[in-house]
Parts: sequence; structure tokens; C-alpha cells
Amino acid sequence: MAIYHLNCGTLNPLYPRNTQSILYCLLADTNDGLLLVDTGFGVKDVLNPTPFIRIFTALLGMDRSLEETALHRIEELGFDKQDVKHIVLTHLHCDHTGGLPDFPRAQVHVFAEEYDAAMQPKGLLGRFYEPDHWSHAPDWRIHDRREVTDWFGLDSIRIDEILHPDVRFVPLPGHTKGHCGVAISDGDSWLLHAGDATYPFYQNSDPAPPLKPLPWFVMNPPKVIERMIAGNQTPKLRSLLRAHGTTIRIICSNDAITYSRMKAGSTAS
Ligand SMILES: [Zn+2]
Repeated sequence: MAIYHLNCGTLNPLYPRNTQSILYCLLADTNDGLLLVDTGFGVKDVLNPTPFIRIFTALLGMDRSLEETALHRIEELGFDKQDVKHIVLTHLHCDHTGGLPDFPRAQVHVFAEEYDAAMQPKGLLGRFYEPDHWSHAPDWRIHDRREVTDWFGLDSIRIDEILHPDVRFVPLPGHTKGHCGVAISDGDSWLLHAGDATYPFYQNSDPAPPLKPLPWFVMNPPKVIERMIAGNQTPKLRSLLRAHGTTIRIICSNDAITYSRMKAGSTAS
């Protein structure tokens, strides 16, 4: 089973300067067509953005190129947009949902608490939802906590519509109320897309230097800022890696460094 690592947006944010990050999406084979994890921004965001998307992408330092949309990335791999039967979203912030209109026939899997949070947004991070991205009435599949199973000591909710591979929501709330990681079984190992629930936190333990030197407040952000933006999931994810690092790999949404390594490793685009 192939998992493709997609860069669906190169970012050069206004703050902090001189850092590069991406919008990190995954594409995986399943028994029922292709599965996309998060969608980045979509074709409409590039060609005809809402005022909010225009401002937000400018703050991210993003070019809004068609080449970096998930649709283009998938076609580049030789697939058709009709091949994408499932989309699983870590959360519904606009930089994760812009591609939804490009795959109108896909089932869109979302955790119930996140769906509710997006439909009735509150607070500062609630402003980053863009209802225009679901104005085409996607085929929502809302997953609640009715059938929680253990995943390496964490709660998980299996996406039953997909028989193979095993794909699960792993609730990692904090960044948004219903934010989840998405875990995909890859044979004997697992890949966890941790979305926006953590900074790229690997630098502390990883001997390989980042591509560009990062300022101290990115390497070691004050706890209060980290909690405000990402919630308080990083310690839990670090423990998970310490205990199961040979079985589980973790990526997160803006992680350009791990993306580069994965791309060098195999099936990235
Ligand atoms: Zn977010």
C-alpha cells in the first residue's frame, strides 16, 4: 500500500521570518479508492479567493499556485480526481479544507466535536474556519466517540468505511475543540498526521539540523504561546515517540523538514 507525501503549499510566513513551512497532506491507497488527509487550499482559493483567504494566504507568505493544490499534486502522480473517494480532515481550519470543492464526490470524514466547532465557531481560532469551503454540501461522514478503541494508550476512532488500511482519528484537542491526528497503518508500522496539534517538535532530539536555522522562539516557544496555538499535546506525542518510535512515525501540518526526509525516502510529491 502506497502513502504519498504531498506539499500542498509552500509558506514563507511574515512571522516568524526566514522560516519555511508547508501545508502537509497525505494520499493513501485504500480498498475503496484513494484517501486524502487534509486538502490545503483549493483551485477556487487560487483563482477566486474570498477576501479572508486572500489576506490569510498573504500572511502565510503563500503564492497560491495551482501547481501546489492537492488536485494538481494528485494529477501529477497520474491519478484522476474521481479516484479520491475519501478525505479525512485533522480539523476544519481553512488551510486544511480549501481543496474540498475540488473533490465533490468524496466522502469527507470529520470528528463530530470538530464538525460542531466549525459550524458554530467561537474564539480567536474559530475565525480561521471558511464556510465557503463547504458551501457545495460535501458528503460529510461525522464520527463520534461511540466506538473508542485504544491506540498505543490513546483514544482512537476507526473510520469503518475504509476496510484497508486501518485509518483512525486520534483526538488531540487544543488547537481546536475537535482537532484530531489521523493514524494510518502501513503494514507493521503507523504514520500519524498530527495536524496542527504540535510544532515540528523533533528538533530537540533529532541530530539532523533544520534546513534553515530557526529562531529560539520557534525552537523553544514559551509554553503559554505554544498552548494557545497548538494546545498541550506535544508532551504526549513526544512520549508516544519515546515508547513506540520504531513503530510510529509522526508528521505535522507545517513540517517542511520531515516532509523533505519523507520525500527523499520514497513516495512523496
Ligand atoms: Zn489549524
